[in-house]
This record gives sequence, C-alpha cells and structure tokens, in this order.
Amino acid sequence: MRYVSTRGEAPPRRFGEILLEGLAPDGGLYVPDSIPRADLAALRGRRYPDLACEVLRPFMDDVPELPALVARAYSADAFGGEEVTPLATLEPGLHLLRLSNGPTLAFKDVAMRLLAELFENALSRGGATLNILGATSGDTGSAAEHAMRGKRGIRVFMLSPHARMSEFQRAQMYSLQDPNIHNLAVKGSFDDCQDLVKAVNADAPFKRRHHIGAVNSINWARVAAQVVYYFKGYFAATSSNHQEVSFAVPSGNFGNVYAGYVARAMGLPLRRLILATNENDVLDEFFRSGRYRVRRDVQATSSPSMDISKASNFERYVFDLVGRDGARVQALWRELGARGEFDLSALGERIAGSAFVSGRSTHADRLATIREVHRRHGVVVDPHTACGIKVGLEHREAGVPLVCLETALPAKFGETIREALGREPDRPAGFESLERRPQCYEVIAVDAQAVKAHILRHAPG
Ligand SMILES: *Cc1c(COP(=O)(O)O)cnc(C)c1O
Repeated sequence: MRYVSTRGEAPPRRFGEILLEGLAPDGGLYVPDSIPRADLAALRGRRYPDLACEVLRPFMDDVPELPALVARAYSADAFGGEEVTPLATLEPGLHLLRLSNGPTLAFKDVAMRLLAELFENALSRGGATLNILGATSGDTGSAAEHAMRGKRGIRVFMLSPHARMSEFQRAQMYSLQDPNIHNLAVKGSFDDCQDLVKAVNADAPFKRRHHIGAVNSINWARVAAQVVYYFKGYFAATSSNHQEVSFAVPSGNFGNVYAGYVARAMGLPLRRLILATNENDVLDEFFRSGRYRVRRDVQATSSPSMDISKASNFERYVFDLVGRDGARVQALWRELGARGEFDLSALGERIAGSAFVSGRSTHADRLATIREVHRRHGVVVDPHTACGIKVGLEHREAGVPLVCLETALPAKFGETIREALGREPDRPAGFESLERRPQCYEVIAVDAQAVKAHILRHAPG
C-alpha cells in the first residue's frame, strides 16, 4: 500500500514511513492511493482482534507484527469484554454501538491503543525515542496518556487548559503517576494550547533534536483503527451481507465519520452516514449548502469534544470530491486561508452521492434526547451520543437499521446528566474515587519557551 498527499506534491510513502510523521511535507494529509475491497463473507463472525487484523492488514502491509499488536490493543481486559465494541439494541432496527468501554470511557481509546502499540513497535526497531507533544480539551489527552503510559521509548507532554476541563477529565489525566507522562496545565484556553504546540513545532531544529511527534486525529493509523468498528457494528446489526445499514456519528474533526466513509469505500453496504454536529456546525452547513466556512470563534457547549472551528480530517474527503486533484486541494486551502471559506456547491451531486447527510443539535435538544432515551429504553447516554441519536432519528428510514455510535460514557459528563435526569450518572467499577487520587501536573503560562524548557528538562536531546 502506498500513501499519497492530499496536496499532491509529496512522494508516495509506505505506512511505516507515515506513521510517525503527521502532516506530509507539502502540508497535506496522507491517504491510501487506492482503497482495498473487503471480503464481507470472510469477515462476518470473526472476533474483534481477528476482524481488526483482516481489515487493517492491507493498510499496514509493512507491519508484520500487526496480529500481536492488535491482540494487545484490543484485549478483553482493556475493553471490559471480548466484544470490545458491543452492539446494544434499543428497539428493533435501532442500535447503539458501544465504543466507550476502554480505559478512559470514550471512543478515542479504540484508535489510541492501537497507535501506542504501533509506535512502540516502530521505535523498538531502531532503538529510537519519541516525545509526543499534544493539546487537549479533554478526551484526546486522557486517551493518549492512558494508551502510551509505560510504553518504551515514548514520553507524552500534554497541554490542557488550566481549570477549564471537567473535574472528572482533569482527574483522569492528572492522576497518572507514570514517569513517561507529563501534564502541563496552561493558564489559557484550548486554542492557546494548540497555538503552543504549533509554536514548538515551528522550531524545526528543536523538533528534530528532541524527536517531537504528535497523536492528533489526522494520523492515518487512527482513522484506519476506527474503520474496524463500522464492520463490527454492521455485522452485529444484520444477518446478511446484502442488507444496508445507516450510521449516526457525533462529529467534530471529521475523523470518526470519515472512517465510516472509508469502510463504505471498502464495500461495506452503508446507506447513510449521518453526520451530527452541535452548535459548532461547520460540517452541517457544508453538507446542507456545499459551503465550507471555518468559524472564528468556537462556542463552548455541553458536548465539548465536538467544539471545533475547522474539521482537520475534512481535507481527505475534499480530495476525493475534487477527483483526487492535489493542485485543486491546494487552491481551495489557499482560499480558505485568505477568505476563511470555500464553496463546492457546484459539486452538489457528488456530495449527495457520497452517502453523507447531516444535522445539528442544541443543548436543549441533547437534554431532551437524554431524557427520551432514558424514558423509552432505560439507557443513559452522554451528551455527544445524544447529539448523534437526535440527528440519526431525523434521518432514519423504515426498514434500514440505524446504528448510533456511542462516543463517550455519561460518567464523564455528570453536570449535563444531572441537568437532564436530576441524578448522577453511574460510574463503571474502578472509577469511584477518581477525583480523590493524588494529581500530578505543572501549571505554566501561555509561553512556548516554558513548554520547551519543560521538554528539555525531561527529554534532553
Ligand atoms: C472526539 C470526540 C468526538 C468527535 O469525533 P471526531 O472524530 O473528531 O469527529 C465526538 N464525541 C466524543 C465523546 C469525542 O471524544
């Protein structure tokens, strides 16, 4: 398998070469030069790790250790059972694919645990080290830290906005005591954290000397890992490989739903990919109008992991829309830089043909959905999942099973659950005293030098 850049000017690379790299040298994102076809008959009925191996093998054909890595990433221990991502049926034809049974109770564990195994494996070959520098508003940072803790050759430096995450999210990250995990609480916003990461990465000599890497959602390995559970959900919701299924996906950076698009391109009979946004609705606007307008401000909502101003994986989909023309993508992103928007409404038919439909939810919608799902089905869902269910039901069609992706457990978002249901969400075993554990973090100013100094102290070149 060869990977090419969406901007068309980087040489094709193998998976092993793009794994640690992030952006392509021309500023684009790597995508496979062609999408392999899946053999559905051979995949149905497999255990999760076997399914993952078969689905991932063509994308990672230069990683001979893949079966062992997958077995460790998707152990029954880590995900509370053999199923890894079990399907719960709310009523006939309406399902919840539970992606949040991993160590940090959000679906990001699924991709991050495989990424950690792939990283450790790649580094062990050359005896190299990697210093992961990231910014988080909550779920990504804790998933990355829990996946990377104790991994040989890897250190994590995670920037988070000081005093702006939920108590639960803070405790999930800051209570880790592993020597390779470093929490930096920045006296600023999530955007400040992201700017700091950019500033450190802009210092090319520093970046090279200290082997700075990333785990952001544009990493192809993360996308690929997420393709697997679309197969898992499809097989669990159907009895034959001819039936069509629709998926509803709470979306932010377009990583999760883009994985569904890849699964469909591999031949999985997905009818609709129902993209759900919250009040930060850049993507909903695009799928309704063909206009992509990044926002200047991000609105803080009760579904914080979907609070984005631009969707970083979106470029991969646009690359396909414009016929895989890298020069065209470059021109569009230049326009985006200059004017903050571009217009692809002329490609309306193509957009319509690609299975995406969309919708949005407000805080009031999410509260109403949490109450309604609880009343009708006796199940408590988190505000992100509620957003997906709300929009999913709007696009539900008779006779087509609808699978809603559960992207986090309600325990992470107690405040909204209390507002909706007047009670505390249940906590999975092992999380009862999370906020009382000792916490380990360092508070720093919005200052790239302070970040570099911290890295220097803990990872001398
Ligand atoms: C990250 C996240 C999302 C958004 O997923 P994208 O891949 O960025 O579209 C939705 N819900 C939860 C709980 C998340 O953590």
